[in-house]
Amino acid sequence: MELALLLLRWLRDAFSGAMLPPVSEKTLFQKIMDREEPGDILYEDDLCVALRDINPQAPTHVLIVPRNPIPSLDALTEEDETLVGHLFLVAQKVAADEGLTDGYRTVFNNGSDAQQTVAHVHLHLLGGRRMSWPPG
Ligand code: 5GP
Repeated sequence: MELALLLLRWLRDAFSGAMLPPVSEKTLFQKIMDREEPGDILYEDDLCVALRDINPQAPTHVLIVPRNPIPSLDALTEEDETLVGHLFLVAQKVAADEGLTDGYRTVFNNGSDAQQTVAHVHLHLLGGRRMSWPPG
């Protein structure tokens, strides 16, 4: 009887959405932008924030993240056209500030094949070493 009640309660919660995280939950990058999680922020403006990657893959590895938590490159729309251009201009500025005079690489990982791990679109800026091609 006890078990049946537990099962019924679980079904009710599952179907009412109570077991899903609230839609309003912030992404990791939003928490860093809002100073709720630690982060090394190099630049910010009304549209985006540039922060150092916690697990750098090059001497300079910076993530340029829009304030709007768009989940992935696939989720961008025509409305985001200016925003995407802005992310690249910020990458250019950060690269100059970081002294990446010999070049750098920018990357959007999109989806599981590209090993996107954080569902908040971000532009990787990598530099400070010779890159190989093709990427792994
Ligand atoms: P993705 O794999 O989604 O393209 O990139 C996510 C990036 O976020 C990874 O390079 C990863 O190292 C970085 N990252 C994951 N957790 C944190 C964190 O807590 N702080 C910072 N600054 N970067 C993180």
